[in-house]
Amino acid sequence: MIDKKKFYINGEWVDPINKQSLDVIDPSTEKSCATISLGGKEDVNKAVNAAKKAYETWGFSSKEERVKLLENLYVLYKKRWADIANAITMEMGAPKDFSTKLQTGTGASHIKSFIRYLKEFKFEKPLGEHAPDQRIIYEPKGVCALITPWNWPMNQVCLKVIPALSAGCTMVLKPSELAPLSSMILAEIIHEAKFPSGVFNLVNGDGATTGDALTSHPEVNMISFTGSTRAGALISQNAAKDFKRVSLELGGKGANIIFKDADPEAIERGALRCFRNSGQSCNAPTRMLVEKSMYDEAVERLKKYANEFQVDDPNKEGEHIGPVISETQFNKIQTLIKKGIDEGAKLVSGGPGKPNGLDKGYYVKPTVFADVKNDMEIARTEIFGPVLSVMPFETEEEAIKIANDTPYGLTNYIQTQDPEKVKRVARKLRSGMVDVNGAGIAVDAPFGGFKHSGIGREAGSEGLVEFLEVKSVGGWN
Ligand code: NAD
Repeated sequence: MIDKKKFYINGEWVDPINKQSLDVIDPSTEKSCATISLGGKEDVNKAVNAAKKAYETWGFSSKEERVKLLENLYVLYKKRWADIANAITMEMGAPKDFSTKLQTGTGASHIKSFIRYLKEFKFEKPLGEHAPDQRIIYEPKGVCALITPWNWPMNQVCLKVIPALSAGCTMVLKPSELAPLSSMILAEIIHEAKFPSGVFNLVNGDGATTGDALTSHPEVNMISFTGSTRAGALISQNAAKDFKRVSLELGGKGANIIFKDADPEAIERGALRCFRNSGQSCNAPTRMLVEKSMYDEAVERLKKYANEFQVDDPNKEGEHIGPVISETQFNKIQTLIKKGIDEGAKLVSGGPGKPNGLDKGYYVKPTVFADVKNDMEIARTEIFGPVLSVMPFETEEEAIKIANDTPYGLTNYIQTQDPEKVKRVARKLRSGMVDVNGAGIAVDAPFGGFKHSGIGREAGSEGLVEFLEVKSVGGWN
């Protein structure tokens, strides 16, 4: 068992003040693999004070200094790649290959991309030739509380920590208590890269105590949160009391609109995107809308695809999916699968229970429901498991209406060979992202949602600007 009880505060690993601990459970074995501490108010206070003190100098550091340190960090991240990938496999069950290529890979891509944007970014610029004495200055927002989920641990953490460092902010990171180990490796990397003490701090803990203490702390200037819509609403209430800046990346219930002229792989590709990471992606296309004339064929193909889809031990190499994160999540998914059956959706493959031969571990069968109505609970709730809801549509207008009929608005998907239809439909979808014909959203494209999917954008230049305040100065000669 790995002892990870210390917090990283003011440039060193320190013992917690609150002595409560929590076991990190490996979801493939259901056994404890490490112990962390749950930070109390005093621990959070200590970390925020360190960040506040460090801000006095780091907030005025030069861009060149920050670029140099981030370049050190990038080199060290690549050296620790295998350690990070192994930690992610252990803490959240992402299979080895997926963990190495995608889970750890996206973190690296964000570091590289933010360094590029930082180098190009102009922190001071004139308003325009018409007003030569007017200056626009971008300044760091100050002390940031960064709170992340477990499903893409390094991706989410790098989307916050790296732009915050780039902007000149100081911070306290509270990673998910379910998957904290990869973040603790990142803390070691930041230490080794020689960022000044107090710029980056890490306190582990749960949402109700540690997360709440952090988001209600009066010295925190900004909260950047990724997680559930439920927690996002609570955090916004805390932030409102003293007008903290808030950035929220929340849940999704993406629609994948498959027109009859879609490319031949569109159906299977859609199912793969839904099942990948065991269905635990906020941007997963979990509602598949298929044009009526090809609906029956699509359902048959999905049945075959899901029945052959591999679920297995994450410690094995290969393209399979692993378990879901926890017993709670496993039970929630089982309840929703049963609900789908009770509501009258047609179970095409998968269903309740564990896949054959995988009795230990939180494994879920890749499940497809056909003839789903958009008002059924399985079509409205973010299931966060490998469960696909399929429904037919007759016209373009109807498809858009169904796609938009959800409280969420993160990512929608369009599959058609008609470029004019792509443009028409993409403009009408109420979501922060639209992915066409499997093209994917670029690593530095703005990532975020409309409606209940959140506020603000991460990644690339928009992700950097999230951590900056804008100041106008008149009379700058
Ligand atoms: P969660 O909201 O339960 O937890 C996320 C983080 O918030 C954890 O660190 C947790 O400890 C903390 N937290 C929980 N309650 C809190 C509170 N009251 N105050 C402060 N902090 C609190 O979510 P989860 O189950 O870890 O993650 C899954 C959710 O994250 C899904 O809804 C998913 O869609 C969403 N997500 C969104 C994006 C995105 O970019 N839009 C990306 C990944 C995941």
